[in-house]
Amino acid sequence: MAAIDGLPPLRDVIRDHDLVAKKQLGQNFLLDLNLTAKIARQAGDLSGCDVLEVGPGPGGLTRGLLAEGARRVLAVEKDPRCLPALAEISAAYPDRLQVINGDALEVDVLSHLTPPIRVVANLPYNVGTELLVRWLTPKVWPPFWESLTLMFQREVAERIVAKPRTEHYGRLALLVQWRCEAKIVLHLPPEAFTPAPKVHSAVVHLTRLDSPRYPADGAVLARITAMAFNQRRKMLRSSLKGMGPDIEEKLVAAGIAPTARAEEISLEGFCALAREVAG
Ligand code: SAM
Repeated sequence: MAAIDGLPPLRDVIRDHDLVAKKQLGQNFLLDLNLTAKIARQAGDLSGCDVLEVGPGPGGLTRGLLAEGARRVLAVEKDPRCLPALAEISAAYPDRLQVINGDALEVDVLSHLTPPIRVVANLPYNVGTELLVRWLTPKVWPPFWESLTLMFQREVAERIVAKPRTEHYGRLALLVQWRCEAKIVLHLPPEAFTPAPKVHSAVVHLTRLDSPRYPADGAVLARITAMAFNQRRKMLRSSLKGMGPDIEEKLVAAGIAPTARAEEISLEGFCALAREVAG
């Protein structure tokens, strides 16, 4: 039976185009169109937006985004085997879906998008964190996107939203929360995917802030948090020795006890320290 968009069910699409999942491309497909529409809705009102989707695969989430009213979708897919299936979706939604066959880490997407832009993706796990870090560290802020709605392994999602004094708190939480509002909006069990991965997944929704929550130089903040969390069990006066001989005074000036450990320090505290270090 055809789905609501008049296109065949995804199981048929995969069979007809012989899309046997490839592990090295992180291919775990979502076949339930109710679920993909639900994920698309987590991105907010798409009607006036261009959407960048990375890794559309056979197009389940793409169909969700279009059915939920995205103005246009730009989908970047590395696997050429998926292109005929995606071409069928383009034909069903004239002028609303553009597909680029390429590696999302290399393709220049900006010239194909018109603001406002939202990013929505069931990311290949092998490139997901790298893409996230790139989207969070553009040359100028605010970035090209208004929000990121992304599927991750549950553990990565927990690292993104983590608070101080918790197991998953670290560099990624600080990088994200410095300039975004971040929350986990959906949990998905392995059985939601075909084939089922070994781990649970979660969708994270990030909304950019117009400016950072606390002033700091991004490069200094990144250097400090990298050093502090590389030795997260050590006291900061020792893990941050490499920042200079006067690091203890700078910690004190930032209101941080030199004997504290990285996981105890809030984003506000790290930003204060970054300002002291930058002078
Ligand atoms: N969006 C589809 C879904 O939800 O069913 C597929 C998701 S699957 C987890 C990840 C997709 O990303 C695959 O289609 C894979 O071929 C594609 N992919 C993997 N690495 C990529 C890369 N570097 N650039 C673009 N696409 C990539």
